[in-house]
Amino acid sequence: MEEHIVIIGNGISGITAARHIRKNSNKRITIISGETDYFYSRTALMYIYMGHMKFEHTQPYENWFWEKNRIELKKAYVTHIHTDKKELVLDDQSTMAYDKLILALGSKPNKFGWPGQNLDGVMGMYHKQDLDLLEQYSVDCNRAVIVGGGLIGIELAEMLRSRNIPVTFLVRESSFWNGVLPDGESEMINKHILEHHIDLRLSSNLQEIKADENGRVKSVIIQETGEELPCNIVGLTAGVSPNIAFLKDSEIETGRGILVNRYLETNFNNIYAIGDCAEQRDAIGQRRPIEAVWYTGRMMGETVAQTICGNRKQYNPGHWFNSAKFLDIEYQTYGWVFSDKIKPDYQETFHWMAPCSKKCITVAFHKESKLFLGINTFGIRMRHEIFDKWLTEKRDVFYVMEHLKDVNFDPEFYEQYEDMIINYFNSEYDTSLKTKKRSWKRILNLSN
Ligand SMILES: Cc1cc2nc3c(=O)[nH]c(=O)nc-3n(C[C@H](O)[C@H](O)[C@H](O)COP(=O)(O)OP(=O)(O)OC[C@H]3O[C@@H](n4cnc5c(N)ncnc54)[C@H](O)[C@@H]3O)c2cc1C
Repeated sequence: MEEHIVIIGNGISGITAARHIRKNSNKRITIISGETDYFYSRTALMYIYMGHMKFEHTQPYENWFWEKNRIELKKAYVTHIHTDKKELVLDDQSTMAYDKLILALGSKPNKFGWPGQNLDGVMGMYHKQDLDLLEQYSVDCNRAVIVGGGLIGIELAEMLRSRNIPVTFLVRESSFWNGVLPDGESEMINKHILEHHIDLRLSSNLQEIKADENGRVKSVIIQETGEELPCNIVGLTAGVSPNIAFLKDSEIETGRGILVNRYLETNFNNIYAIGDCAEQRDAIGQRRPIEAVWYTGRMMGETVAQTICGNRKQYNPGHWFNSAKFLDIEYQTYGWVFSDKIKPDYQETFHWMAPCSKKCITVAFHKESKLFLGINTFGIRMRHEIFDKWLTEKRDVFYVMEHLKDVNFDPEFYEQYEDMIINYFNSEYDTSLKTKKRSWKRILNLSN
């Protein structure tokens, strides 16, 4: 009889693993998920709320696809894993046997033990159930408070503003996402958030969430000022962590996530972990041990499928890239551009911002060798595959600036801004000597 592969989680990583195992084998495949009947694109949740698409439109596969491809679906939560018996216990107390198990459990929103964090009206923004709650809570909402300034927080702010719900955004940092973004970019996003009539409060922590007489949220208290802000929704978006609480009684080794080696294998040779819930035991270059992003989940799904089908393969994520949206500003990053807060000594940056607009780029390179390390772009689309190639070829920043035309994705932008960027770069750097120009200000030591 064919091996039974059970996958817990029907997000991008679990589904990709299932599709690729089916492509390469006749194994029996079952996917279990407690969230939804079918796979949908989590990244599109905001567009459902904003009325741009219906939930059905976020499902990339027709409902018949699974049966046709002999992928069994089971809607249930797994509550226990008996690794000794190779058996799962589901929330209806039934059991399911597996030969190989793939854990693709995703994340859950962080809750840091704030008083009132489980009240009615307090929610994360991760699962389909959160979206349903948000619909319900939005009906009579006079103000929402969002706690935590990351990518999901700003999406939630945009969603609520699309329905004219006033939003206060509590951000612990002194500038938005400045643990990740260089200062110039972070400041640009601060301004942009304020211009969208979002009440951004920097250096502000949540102290407590208060309830009304029905147990529903009525206000929050800000730690720094003691101010009480009346509100009907509190969105907790202070990051996510692996959704692994139910594994704590199992023998599967965990840290913040499920510990895996480069083959995505856990401490059991028939159990694997992929996607947001996997934590690399050994660092892969400068990448974080847990990466909660869509495309790495898909890559891990493809990789583990190869291993399960007999072609044991290492996970190799290549050069880091990511993209997101800050309201209507598109952001892309390729390679490594570290924020001012955490930048290594060797990082030098060239920052250009378009006059009177929300378009900018930051190019990071090595101070001494001038090796191109990475680029951030805001409001400008550039070609991912070319940056990837330049990073692999270890080009220097002068080569990158000279060939910036090749990454052109957006002719309109280039017609307007390309010369400006190059001229500005040439005013700062001597391209023939491959050095920074010595300006009179610098010579007199008036600026750094
Ligand atoms: C609002 C939002 C916007 C995002 N936007 C972006 C973006 O623009 N770009 C980007 O790269 N990333 C984005 N992300 C992150 C991205 O969606 C995740 O990295 C990705 O979905 C993770 O996929 P996964 O397969 O690992 O897990 P998930 O998609 O979380 O799927 C895991 C599934 O397993 C189920 N599950 C967990 N435990 C059990 C159990 N015990 N029993 C049964 N089922 C279980 C969960 O309910 C869930 O359905 C966004 C995330 C959110 C929430």
